[in-house]
Amino acid sequence: MPQPASVPTLAPRADPGTQSKRRRIGILALQGDFREHANAIRAIDAEPVLVRLPRDLVGIDALILPGGESTTMRKLVDRYGLREPIAALARGGAPVFGTCAGMILLADRITDGDEPVLRLLDIAVQRNGYGRQLDSFESDVEIPELGDEPLHGVFIRAPVVTDAGPEVQVLARDQSGRPIAVRQGKVLATAFHPELTDDRRMHRLLLELIEAERGTTGP
Ligand code: GLN
Repeated sequence: MPQPASVPTLAPRADPGTQSKRRRIGILALQGDFREHANAIRAIDAEPVLVRLPRDLVGIDALILPGGESTTMRKLVDRYGLREPIAALARGGAPVFGTCAGMILLADRITDGDEPVLRLLDIAVQRNGYGRQLDSFESDVEIPELGDEPLHGVFIRAPVVTDAGPEVQVLARDQSGRPIAVRQGKVLATAFHPELTDDRRMHRLLLELIEAERGTTGP
């Protein structure tokens, strides 16, 4: 006899490996505006993890390098032995997002003679390259990948990207055509500070890169 239609069927159980879980986003917290990034991460329902020591990198899904002073951050990165562990995390496929000083830490080349730090992004940067007249300024930033509405770009003693290699996708340019938001694989960087506004689209893009990673290589 066929089963009556009212017999409850067991709902398929979600595979725990593919269930969306709250992502843990590391934020380098040695210096700079890491608190603002932590707020942005909470606002997109992910968990910020402040990173001060190599062991803090264990179990994070992505890493943010904040704005601040790249020379100070460089010293502290080396003092706490973070340079190689961060590079290894990125080589392992974890997305990394640098803003302003964070972009400088990621760059392959620094034109004013400073030694590069992580070299995860094939760009050359000139520190404070917008010059004294434009020490700090705000400007609309068009990022077609993030929709029609421009982002509000806050630039504070921002680096100028003077060169970008062929693998680097330019997401946005300034009025002179120089890159101000770039992506190379799972490495993202902006010369401006999305963490200082309420627009969370860049942080969401970082989350999407994690999901893309899971999608292609499994959990
Ligand atoms: N001018 C800083 C540097 O060179 C970066 C400024 C910033 O992160 N807002 O490190």
